[in-house]
Amino acid sequence: MNEAAPPPTMRLTVDREALAANWRALDALSGAASAGAAVKADCYGLGVDTCVPLLRDAGCEAFFVAHWSEVAAVARHVPPSQIAVLHGPLSPADCAYAHSTGALPVINSREQAALWLASGGGRCHLMVDTGINRLGIAPSEANEPIIAALDIDMLMSHLASADEDSAMNPRQRDAFTTVAAVIPHRRRSLANSAGIALGKDYAFDLTRPGIALYGGVPRAELAGIIRPVVGIEAAILQCRTLAAGDGVGYNSTFTAPEAMRVATVSIGYADGFLRLRGPGNALFHKDCRLPILGKVSMDMVVVDLSAAPDLVAGDWLGVPWDITDCAQQNILSPYELLTTIGQRLRPG
Ligand SMILES: *Cc1c(COP(=O)(O)O)cnc(C)c1O
Repeated sequence: MNEAAPPPTMRLTVDREALAANWRALDALSGAASAGAAVKADCYGLGVDTCVPLLRDAGCEAFFVAHWSEVAAVARHVPPSQIAVLHGPLSPADCAYAHSTGALPVINSREQAALWLASGGGRCHLMVDTGINRLGIAPSEANEPIIAALDIDMLMSHLASADEDSAMNPRQRDAFTTVAAVIPHRRRSLANSAGIALGKDYAFDLTRPGIALYGGVPRAELAGIIRPVVGIEAAILQCRTLAAGDGVGYNSTFTAPEAMRVATVSIGYADGFLRLRGPGNALFHKDCRLPILGKVSMDMVVVDLSAAPDLVAGDWLGVPWDITDCAQQNILSPYELLTTIGQRLRPG
């Protein structure tokens, strides 16, 4: 089919200027170090094709993805040598892909080091585990010949609790400095978004912000510096008047106490508007709060129109995707809020 689809009933807008400004702010906060960008998971749900060119044009020269399958999309916009794959190689096929594309593996274990060297080796990055116990060689493995045989560009570690004032932060920083003294490398990289806010002694040569680029504020120091990036709106599909006693949605978990005007809106859990964002939360029209009624469906949600009774089908409502003060942040982190944005909403 060649026909262009008609205009959608849901839209995600990325504030391009804010995204670029956030990168520049994080780069400035990194002091003498430069900021890279975590662009894994389709730029945290906001779209590689939208975000990566903006980050590149702002001056970013280091891009981090998790999977080899994420390399090609990023490489449409930046030199492959600027792309690092955090999961590293698990098979000779992964190494062959690295060699043919030019993307660099992050080596996370002696096994990965052996695999990389067996494939011909060459420039790579090395992750050292300083306490998160996820990926990375142990500091005690730093002197192993297989590690010494690597041609390491960036020596990396990852902070476990940078979003808290934890004694673990200086402990990890010091462990990183200690291990860096015994592993030859060109550059060092430790801090994620929250780590940047811990201060210049966490920045080393390259920082790796993710969430803060996209408008998340993982530490109070970044409030007022980081600008919101994401805007989500959904259109009203239908309005109706309920009679007292009418139920709304699957299992009729909301019952109208009296006659009331409601609207069915074009966004649901398939778009990332998860069920836990149902009753207690609201959509907005200008300053009017429109509470959610009943269960969120896959493609729809029903709201109370009492505060804006004149709205009609086709009118647009604001869907809060406010990653600084989502009411249920304890249940759903700002990271999850962004990375579960559904395919139908993603730009591009
Ligand atoms: C995802 C990731 C980042 C970015 O973290 P944010 O908290 O989003 O800034 C940095 N480094 C590594 C290794 C990561 O996996």
